[in-house]
Amino acid sequence: MSINHLVRPNILRLTPYSSARSEYKGRADIFLDANENPYDTGYNRYPDPLQWKLKEKIGALKGIAPEYIFLGNGSDEAIDLLIRIFCEPGADHIITLPPTYGMYKVSADIANVAVKEVLLDKNFQPDVEAILAAADSHSKLLFLCSPNNPTANSFALDKVEQLVARFPGMVVVDEAYIDFSGQPGCIGLLAEYPNLVVMQTFSKAWGLAGIRLGMAFASEEVIALFNKVKPPYNINQLTQEAALKALDKQQQQKEWVQQILGQRVLLTQYLSGLAFVQRIYPSDANFLLVKVENPRAVYDFLVQRGIIVRDRSRVALCEGCLRITIGTPEENELFFKALLDYF
Ligand SMILES: *Cc1c(COP(=O)(O)O)cnc(C)c1O
Repeated sequence: MSINHLVRPNILRLTPYSSARSEYKGRADIFLDANENPYDTGYNRYPDPLQWKLKEKIGALKGIAPEYIFLGNGSDEAIDLLIRIFCEPGADHIITLPPTYGMYKVSADIANVAVKEVLLDKNFQPDVEAILAAADSHSKLLFLCSPNNPTANSFALDKVEQLVARFPGMVVVDEAYIDFSGQPGCIGLLAEYPNLVVMQTFSKAWGLAGIRLGMAFASEEVIALFNKVKPPYNINQLTQEAALKALDKQQQQKEWVQQILGQRVLLTQYLSGLAFVQRIYPSDANFLLVKVENPRAVYDFLVQRGIIVRDRSRVALCEGCLRITIGTPEENELFFKALLDYF
């Protein structure tokens, strides 16, 4: 099954920019084709526009061929490109499931693409029938964030698969927090569903938010669309090198994740002993969603102590909640000690 009928006609017709570095694929010693400075600074050449070396390493780690990978300037670039590939401004829409990550709506708003919102249920799970009832032939993208930000839980896999199987458009599963989850991700479903896109990122477990590197996994057909519309050199040389280096130190990433998971348990125990803490939601991510009495007062108190958490108390279904990232053991201890002084 092709997904061509979901793509904007102008994107299907588009002749993409052809860069010097992608036109000549053979070996050569002298490059006089790209108007670069010939003197070697380490960075005088344009980077590989398709980042093959990096994709091979990522592919080996994730168990997927490099041809099924797109790399973006953060997941945020992948979100923006998906909207521009599939959604006709003023005509098509995306579906999101609040409370969730804010960038889906911001990217859609910038593109003048409407957003249909179908609230999560009271267990923070997708309401499959309500989502399908809201969908029509203009529903080009459904964003599922699992584990979900800010609710911290994973979506039930059978619900995700039902949606991928039955939704009339593309289904994007944002797995930014998958490395902290006890649940397997959706990359394994890609072979079966051409309308599935799975996103991950170097910004969380890998400790590389500063290099801006996001991954999208999808069919070759969808990857070709990403490559058609992306800026030619969207992943710079410094970022490619930093990511290659990090991938050679996978043990470090695993140790950080284990440390954070341990701290997640500890912080949950500590917080549950505080009188003003009403509820700590189960977390499959590197943060906790915590319902407190008077969240603004707790937030302001922490700010005075130089500690910033995220106030999500005015977000639908998160009334009264703060979102707290798990820090280092030292940071978590200082955070908890500060809370002991709060009354
Ligand atoms: C943090 C986060 C991301 C990461 O975005 P990048 O652009 O890769 O830094 C993506 N999705 C969700 C839900 C997040 O919380």
